[in-house]
Amino acid sequence: MRLSQMLFVTLREDPAEAEIPSHKLLLRAGYIRRIGSGIYAYLPLMWRVLQKVSQIVREEMNATLAQECLLPQLQPAELWRESGRWDTYTQAEGIMFALKDRQERELGLGPTHEEVITTIAKEMIRSYRQLPLHLYQIQTKFRDEIRPRFGLMRGREFIMKDGYSFHADEESLKKTYQDMHQAYSNMLRRSGLSFRAVQADSGAIGGSGSQEFMVLAEAGEDEVLYTEDGQYAANVEKAVSLPADAENSIFTSYEKRETPGTDTIEKLCKFLKSSPTQVVKNVLYQAVYDNGMTVLVLVIIRADQEVNEVKLQNELTKLSGNYGGKTLLFLTVPDAEAQQKWAAKSLPLGYIAPDIGDDYIASHKQVNSKFLRLVDHTAVDLKNFVTGSNESSYHVVGANWGEQLKLPENVVDVRKARPGDRAIHNPAQTLQSARGIEVGHIFQLGTKYSKAMGATYTNEQGEEVPLVMGCYGVGVSRLAQSAVEQSYDKDGIIWPVAIAPYHVIISIPNVSDAAQLQAAEQLYDQLNEAGIETLLDDRNERAGVKFKDADLIGIPYRIVTGKSLKAGKVEVVERATHKAQDIALEEVVPTLKQWIDAAVS
Ligand code: ATP
Ligand code: MG
Repeated sequence: MRLSQMLFVTLREDPAEAEIPSHKLLLRAGYIRRIGSGIYAYLPLMWRVLQKVSQIVREEMNATLAQECLLPQLQPAELWRESGRWDTYTQAEGIMFALKDRQERELGLGPTHEEVITTIAKEMIRSYRQLPLHLYQIQTKFRDEIRPRFGLMRGREFIMKDGYSFHADEESLKKTYQDMHQAYSNMLRRSGLSFRAVQADSGAIGGSGSQEFMVLAEAGEDEVLYTEDGQYAANVEKAVSLPADAENSIFTSYEKRETPGTDTIEKLCKFLKSSPTQVVKNVLYQAVYDNGMTVLVLVIIRADQEVNEVKLQNELTKLSGNYGGKTLLFLTVPDAEAQQKWAAKSLPLGYIAPDIGDDYIASHKQVNSKFLRLVDHTAVDLKNFVTGSNESSYHVVGANWGEQLKLPENVVDVRKARPGDRAIHNPAQTLQSARGIEVGHIFQLGTKYSKAMGATYTNEQGEEVPLVMGCYGVGVSRLAQSAVEQSYDKDGIIWPVAIAPYHVIISIPNVSDAAQLQAAEQLYDQLNEAGIETLLDDRNERAGVKFKDADLIGIPYRIVTGKSLKAGKVEVVERATHKAQDIALEEVVPTLKQWIDAAVS
């Protein structure tokens, strides 16, 4: 392709809308253009990158038993009602774009495709003889993200490869899951990314079967906790660890003490000269289930620890049935306005005790009349601890479970693991922290959707049983931008060769020099013929401008038809290192071919 014929516009200045390097660079180098919040146009250079990533993804998927298909983006609401996800996906923080057609039928724009694929499986898979089966697609997804940002990293319209597998049993699912682990590792390695596979939250479905593929970069929205021995890596949402040991209590007898102005743990510990490991804090949350039921939740946890809200959500989802709901709609820390709706009297905020009376909750048919009290493991073994007294400006010290306070029944792990914590598999290892961009997620779903939607098959014994499912997603557009986030310098993008829009750019320093022009044209033809994707910068611009642009757009190799032409040579510059060497005209094609092959193998 000739630059003179392209829509080629680069910017010298960083666009104000962009915060992270990859977003700035893709905008500056003319790869993408913002059309609206979280909505981007993929310009020709970007589209080539996306096609390359898609092709790598496709090849790795096709090397397994997966088959490509294309599912509809417009999805009838009924399917989502069957799975029980319509409300969670369209209300509150739900991310599905919902619409009505001319006949007032409700539809959603596909954020993901479990419902569609399960419907197909339900109708088409009858017998174990048809299993296992794995279908995937590469397609635009729509999600009304709460905070779209960072360009293609979190768009409201983005490209995803999503695959869904169906199995007769868990063993078969595990095999495909393993194959996907390999396929995903291959995809990322081939795309030139440095990554880590980590244990991930599987929501309330539980099980050990979910891993995320994290591209390691400072700009990553996710925190990964790992140990240096390579034995453990998990998303912080999922991570577990051993908490620090609690210090011995300085209190030996139970007493209510005046503790004025100590509505935070820090102030309280300073006032009492006590360690936060000897304090039990009581954190109030408000859960709303899909049937509209509000439940006030008191999380009782050692005060030096923090609540992991993902773990908490999972616990609350598991308890849905107790409150007549199917799923949790949202979880918040109730602010003053929220408290007005249910508080029968003003709450002793900052001084709440584990046994705060249920009479703080006004009678209301949509509000559960009792607090749901969840105790984290860290609070269970404490002796002579400090906690609230349910009276402002007072705490109790030297308290014990089974004496002054009853230990609530629900003991759970809702604690956030933190860097520096000791690892469970080996307490000599401590958790380290890294930032990651989640580019892929593989998931053993089990029978969640097949049960909900009645997708069954007949097994070898002639019984009708639900299909066992897995799902596997990779963000194609996010992956492409993460490659930039991992690979750039002050001059611009440095594409990994395998996903660069072009391999080579020929910069003609002076287009009015006939010899330069002729050599460049000839190389351009030869390179393209040899299958080396080549750009020709034939614009009537100064050499300096051309070199700057070539660096900015990040093409791996630049050929300059300059001074060395007299000796029958051209200068070839490697983008990543800026290393330049003169190569004889006839050696250019075989040399580049060799370099490119080596780089993508
Ligand atoms: P996140 O936690 O980042 O929102 P997710 O858990 O919602 O991701 P999945 O539903 O597992 O993501 O989707 C599979 C893949 O699609 C993700 O691993 C990610 O690479 C990509 N992806 C998800 N949401 C977006 C988005 N808004 N923009 C671009 N890519 C996305
Ligand atoms: Mg998401």
